[in-house]
Amino acid sequence: MKTRMKKLSVPLYLQILAGMVLGIIVGLTAIYAGGGGFVVDWITPWGQLFIRMLRLIAIPLIFVTLVKGIAGLKDISKFSGLGIRTLLIYLCFITLSASFGVGLGVLVRPGALVDREVAAGLQETYRSVIAEKTQEAGMMQGPLDFLNDIVPDNIVSAAGNNSAILQVIFFAILFAVASLLIPWEKARPVVDFFDGLNDIILKMVGFIIKLAPVGVTALMAGLVVDFRGDAGIFSALGLYALTVTSGMLIIMYGFYPLVLRLFGRGVTVRGFLRAMYPVQLFAFTTSSSAVTLPVTMKAVEEDLKVSKEISSFVLPVGVTVNMDGTSCYQAIAILFIAQVLGVDLTLSQMLTVLFMTVLSSIGTPGIPGGTYVILAMVLTSIGIPAEGLALIIGIDRPLDMLRTAVNVTGDAVVACMMGKDAPTPLGGK
Ligand code: ASP
Repeated sequence: MKTRMKKLSVPLYLQILAGMVLGIIVGLTAIYAGGGGFVVDWITPWGQLFIRMLRLIAIPLIFVTLVKGIAGLKDISKFSGLGIRTLLIYLCFITLSASFGVGLGVLVRPGALVDREVAAGLQETYRSVIAEKTQEAGMMQGPLDFLNDIVPDNIVSAAGNNSAILQVIFFAILFAVASLLIPWEKARPVVDFFDGLNDIILKMVGFIIKLAPVGVTALMAGLVVDFRGDAGIFSALGLYALTVTSGMLIIMYGFYPLVLRLFGRGVTVRGFLRAMYPVQLFAFTTSSSAVTLPVTMKAVEEDLKVSKEISSFVLPVGVTVNMDGTSCYQAIAILFIAQVLGVDLTLSQMLTVLFMTVLSSIGTPGIPGGTYVILAMVLTSIGIPAEGLALIIGIDRPLDMLRTAVNVTGDAVVACMMGKDAPTPLGGK
């Protein structure tokens, strides 16, 4: 009986999709029956509750993911030799991908397809949130004022402020690097603690993501009412999905092959793609780069002939740090939501989006939908209402599959760049 029930269970992404459709039906019915007020009073709050839960878990998640990722490097000799080089390359990759995402978002402007009057109405709905941030941005005068946004003067108040995500990231990185510099016997209990904590937090994230179908239904119904049934949002969503898909394909079949040609240490593009095909398929179906890690390792070691020392260091770190698909995606998603809600981002806000995307993609866990949690937080800290997330969650699964495939491919590219003749992780013989 039990196995039968299991077989009948509908995958989460289908439940989310069904939630989206149900939300649209509820919203449209409400509009035609003149019951928009009912949706606002009785349905939208459930969606807001879902967003609250996402935001609730974001700071602990980012903190623990970063500390575990960096402190887990265990000994500083790894960190200083191969480690530093690997981290720098990863940073370069995610910065390029995020910039590419910002470029695509600005160029294509998928969110602009929404009727301007409707956008103005939405802006009115979320006026208080947007105004608060615009005012804050206006208060920043000097060119270096953004540094104050990064360095907290009090970690407790930074952790208690949902828009201070950068400050928490700064503290987490400092904490993790310091833990690498003290003797391992002393650091070990702390690292083990964070290891366990990481599992607990990921479990909590899992609970929250399970609520997504209900959250999406409620949020979507609310949005349809807000949009007064304007169909422009669907063409905008279509163009958004197309923009993300092209971004992912260009990174996968343009950027990575180019890098391999230049720095691939003899690995041919054709051989690489052939070896990666099953890995990408696995990542595509599971939507989790963490779950795909053993498959990536096997392909990189056995088919691409990268030494075990290199792969066992570069790939696990890559799963935490290097998410090229995710960073490109997050940039497009943020710009899309801003465009739909009619929030005009200034150049300096655009740079903040870029900077935040780089850091937040590092803090994104390699699990299905890992991005929602992080995006809810990033949107809040840039001053874009997190409710806008409802727009994209419904169609996120296929895009998640694509970006996960890109994420794991990027890790393998860097493993090839380090090659079999690179110094061993412990600094060579
Ligand atoms: N699912 C992605 C991964 O596992 C993370 C994300 O949601 O972007 O790599």
